[in-house]
Amino acid sequence: MDIDNVKNILIKINEQLQLNKEYLSELDAAIGDGDHGHNMAKGFGKVAEDLKENEYTDIGSMFKKVAMLLISNVGGASGPLYGTAFMELGKEYTGLNELKIEDLEKILELSIKGIKFRGKAELEDKTIIDSLEPAYNSVKESLKNNEPKEEVLNKMVDFSKEGVEHTKEIIARKGRASYLGERSIGHQDPGVTSTYIILKTIRDNILGEK
Ligand SMILES: [Mg+2]
Repeated sequence: MDIDNVKNILIKINEQLQLNKEYLSELDAAIGDGDHGHNMAKGFGKVAEDLKENEYTDIGSMFKKVAMLLISNVGGASGPLYGTAFMELGKEYTGLNELKIEDLEKILELSIKGIKFRGKAELEDKTIIDSLEPAYNSVKESLKNNEPKEEVLNKMVDFSKEGVEHTKEIIARKGRASYLGERSIGHQDPGVTSTYIILKTIRDNILGEK
Protein backbone atom coordinates (compact mmCIF):
# COMPACT_ATOMS: atom_id res chain seq x y z
CA MET A 1 0.00 0.00 0.00
CA ASP A 2 1.51 3.33 -1.04
CA ILE A 3 1.05 6.83 0.34
CA ASP A 4 -1.99 7.49 -1.91
CA ASN A 5 -3.74 4.37 -0.59
CA VAL A 6 -3.09 5.52 2.99
CA LYS A 7 -4.38 8.99 2.15
CA ASN A 8 -7.47 7.49 0.58
CA ILE A 9 -8.20 5.41 3.69
CA LEU A 10 -7.95 8.53 5.88
CA ILE A 11 -10.44 10.28 3.57
CA LYS A 12 -12.79 7.28 3.79
CA ILE A 13 -12.49 7.34 7.59
CA ASN A 14 -13.72 10.92 7.49
CA GLU A 15 -16.69 9.91 5.32
CA GLN A 16 -17.69 7.18 7.79
CA LEU A 17 -17.32 9.51 10.78
CA GLN A 18 -19.52 12.11 9.04
CA LEU A 19 -22.15 9.40 8.46
CA ASN A 20 -21.97 8.32 12.11
CA LYS A 21 -21.75 11.81 13.61
CA GLU A 22 -25.23 11.87 15.18
CA TYR A 23 -24.99 8.28 16.38
CA LEU A 24 -21.65 8.87 18.15
CA SER A 25 -22.91 12.07 19.77
CA GLU A 26 -26.05 10.27 20.98
CA LEU A 27 -23.87 7.61 22.64
CA ASP A 28 -21.89 10.42 24.27
CA ALA A 29 -25.07 12.21 25.40
CA ALA A 30 -25.96 9.19 27.55
CA ILE A 31 -22.72 9.23 29.58
CA GLY A 32 -20.90 12.44 28.63
CA ASP A 33 -21.57 15.79 27.05
CA GLY A 34 -22.96 14.61 23.74
CA ASP A 35 -20.34 15.99 21.41
CA HIS A 36 -18.12 13.03 20.47
CA GLY A 37 -19.53 12.54 16.97
CA HIS A 38 -19.43 16.23 16.19
CA ASN A 39 -15.89 16.54 17.55
CA MET A 40 -14.62 13.62 15.47
CA ALA A 41 -16.46 14.82 12.36
CA LYS A 42 -14.97 18.28 12.71
CA GLY A 43 -11.41 17.02 13.22
CA PHE A 44 -11.42 14.38 10.50
CA GLY A 45 -13.23 16.82 8.21
CA LYS A 46 -10.21 19.13 8.52
CA VAL A 47 -7.92 16.15 7.89
CA ALA A 48 -9.77 15.19 4.69
CA GLU A 49 -9.73 18.79 3.49
CA ASP A 50 -5.99 19.02 4.08
CA LEU A 51 -5.23 15.70 2.38
CA LYS A 52 -7.22 16.61 -0.70
CA GLU A 53 -5.30 19.88 -1.02
CA ASN A 54 -1.75 18.93 -0.08
CA GLU A 55 0.81 16.41 -1.24
CA TYR A 56 3.08 14.73 1.27
CA THR A 57 6.49 13.32 0.52
CA ASP A 58 6.24 10.48 3.04
CA ILE A 59 3.71 8.71 5.24
CA GLY A 60 5.35 10.02 8.41
CA SER A 61 4.90 13.69 7.53
CA MET A 62 1.29 13.00 6.54
CA PHE A 63 0.58 11.30 9.88
CA LYS A 64 2.23 14.19 11.77
CA LYS A 65 -0.06 16.66 10.01
CA VAL A 66 -3.08 14.46 10.81
CA ALA A 67 -1.95 14.46 14.45
CA MET A 68 -1.75 18.25 14.60
CA LEU A 69 -5.13 18.70 12.93
CA LEU A 70 -6.79 16.25 15.32
CA ILE A 71 -5.18 17.81 18.40
CA SER A 72 -6.31 21.30 17.41
CA ASN A 73 -9.77 20.44 16.02
CA VAL A 74 -11.21 17.50 17.97
CA GLY A 75 -12.68 18.72 21.24
CA GLY A 76 -12.79 16.77 24.49
CA ALA A 77 -10.31 14.06 25.41
CA SER A 78 -10.41 12.42 21.99
CA GLY A 79 -8.36 15.06 20.14
CA PRO A 80 -5.22 14.65 22.25
CA LEU A 81 -5.69 10.86 22.37
CA TYR A 82 -6.14 10.19 18.66
CA GLY A 83 -3.62 12.95 17.94
CA THR A 84 -0.98 11.34 20.13
CA ALA A 85 -1.52 8.02 18.36
CA PHE A 86 -0.91 9.65 14.96
CA MET A 87 2.10 11.53 16.36
CA GLU A 88 3.69 8.20 17.36
CA LEU A 89 2.96 6.85 13.87
CA GLY A 90 4.39 10.00 12.30
CA LYS A 91 7.70 9.44 14.07
CA GLU A 92 7.81 5.76 13.12
CA TYR A 93 7.02 6.27 9.43
CA THR A 94 9.23 9.28 8.73
CA GLY A 95 10.77 8.89 5.28
CA LEU A 96 8.70 5.81 4.44
CA ASN A 97 6.28 5.49 1.56
CA GLU A 98 4.87 2.01 1.82
CA LEU A 99 2.86 0.01 4.34
CA LYS A 100 2.42 -3.74 4.41
CA ILE A 101 -0.12 -5.85 6.28
CA GLU A 102 2.62 -6.62 8.85
CA ASP A 103 2.73 -2.91 9.70
CA LEU A 104 -0.74 -3.17 11.17
CA GLU A 105 0.70 -4.78 14.31
CA LYS A 106 3.16 -1.92 14.80
CA ILE A 107 0.53 0.71 14.01
CA LEU A 108 -1.83 -0.63 16.65
CA GLU A 109 0.98 -1.15 19.16
CA LEU A 110 2.25 2.43 18.78
CA SER A 111 -1.27 3.86 18.90
CA ILE A 112 -1.96 2.03 22.15
CA LYS A 113 1.38 3.14 23.58
CA GLY A 114 0.64 6.79 22.74
CA ILE A 115 -2.93 6.70 24.02
CA LYS A 116 -2.01 4.92 27.25
CA PHE A 117 0.76 7.43 27.90
CA ARG A 118 -1.42 10.44 27.18
CA GLY A 119 -4.66 9.23 28.78
CA LYS A 120 -3.18 7.07 31.54
CA ALA A 121 -5.85 4.53 30.59
CA GLU A 122 -5.66 0.77 30.87
CA LEU A 123 -7.80 -2.04 29.51
CA GLU A 124 -11.27 -2.16 31.16
CA ASP A 125 -11.35 1.58 31.91
CA LYS A 126 -14.05 1.95 29.23
CA THR A 127 -11.92 3.93 26.79
CA ILE A 128 -10.59 3.64 23.22
CA ILE A 129 -8.11 1.08 24.58
CA ASP A 130 -10.96 -1.43 25.05
CA SER A 131 -11.35 -1.60 21.30
CA LEU A 132 -7.72 -1.14 20.26
CA GLU A 133 -6.08 -3.67 22.54
CA PRO A 134 -8.23 -6.70 21.57
CA ALA A 135 -7.72 -5.68 17.91
CA TYR A 136 -3.96 -5.50 18.44
CA ASN A 137 -3.78 -8.88 20.20
CA SER A 138 -5.76 -10.45 17.40
CA VAL A 139 -3.57 -8.98 14.64
CA LYS A 140 -0.42 -10.05 16.44
CA GLU A 141 -1.72 -13.62 16.76
CA SER A 142 -2.94 -13.76 13.15
CA LEU A 143 0.39 -12.53 11.78
CA LYS A 144 2.30 -15.00 13.94
CA ASN A 145 0.18 -17.77 12.41
CA ASN A 146 0.73 -16.44 8.89
CA GLU A 147 -2.99 -16.07 8.32
CA PRO A 148 -4.13 -14.53 5.03
CA LYS A 149 -4.71 -10.77 4.91
CA GLU A 150 -8.50 -11.21 4.85
CA GLU A 151 -8.41 -13.18 8.08
CA VAL A 152 -6.04 -10.76 9.82
CA LEU A 153 -8.35 -7.86 9.03
CA ASN A 154 -11.68 -9.60 9.63
CA LYS A 155 -10.60 -10.90 13.02
CA MET A 156 -9.23 -7.48 13.95
CA VAL A 157 -12.63 -5.94 13.29
CA ASP A 158 -14.48 -8.78 15.09
CA PHE A 159 -12.37 -8.38 18.24
CA SER A 160 -12.74 -4.62 18.11
CA LYS A 161 -16.53 -5.07 17.91
CA GLU A 162 -16.46 -7.42 20.89
CA GLY A 163 -14.58 -4.70 22.74
CA VAL A 164 -17.34 -2.24 21.88
CA GLU A 165 -20.01 -4.60 23.22
CA HIS A 166 -17.99 -5.26 26.36
CA THR A 167 -17.94 -1.56 27.26
CA LYS A 168 -21.68 -1.84 27.98
CA GLU A 169 -20.85 -4.12 30.91
CA ILE A 170 -18.14 -2.08 32.60
CA ILE A 171 -17.79 1.07 34.70
CA ALA A 172 -16.13 4.11 33.14
CA ARG A 173 -12.92 5.02 34.97
CA LYS A 174 -11.73 7.84 32.73
CA GLY A 175 -13.15 11.08 31.38
CA ARG A 176 -16.53 12.63 32.02
CA ALA A 177 -18.32 9.26 31.99
CA SER A 178 -16.38 8.26 35.12
CA TYR A 179 -18.41 10.80 37.17
CA LEU A 180 -21.40 8.50 36.64
CA GLY A 181 -19.70 5.55 38.34
CA GLU A 182 -21.98 2.50 38.27
CA ARG A 183 -24.57 4.40 36.26
CA SER A 184 -22.20 4.18 33.29
CA ILE A 185 -22.95 0.45 33.11
CA GLY A 186 -25.35 -0.41 30.30
CA HIS A 187 -23.99 2.31 28.04
CA GLN A 188 -21.72 1.75 25.08
CA ASP A 189 -18.65 3.97 25.07
CA PRO A 190 -18.60 6.51 22.23
CA GLY A 191 -14.79 6.63 21.92
CA VAL A 192 -14.55 2.85 21.65
CA THR A 193 -17.22 3.02 18.98
CA SER A 194 -15.37 5.60 16.89
CA THR A 195 -12.23 3.43 17.11
CA TYR A 196 -14.26 0.49 15.84
CA ILE A 197 -15.58 2.58 12.93
CA ILE A 198 -12.01 3.57 12.04
CA LEU A 199 -10.72 -0.03 12.13
CA LYS A 200 -13.70 -1.29 10.13
CA THR A 201 -13.10 1.39 7.47
CA ILE A 202 -9.43 0.37 7.24
CA ARG A 203 -10.49 -3.27 6.75
CA ASP A 204 -13.20 -2.48 4.20
CA ASN A 205 -10.86 -0.35 2.12
CA ILE A 206 -7.87 -2.67 2.14
CA LEU A 207 -10.04 -5.65 1.17
CA GLY A 208 -11.89 -3.54 -1.39
CA GLU A 209 -8.57 -2.83 -3.12
CA LYS A 210 -7.42 -6.47 -3.35
MG1 LIG B 1 -17.84 14.50 24.87
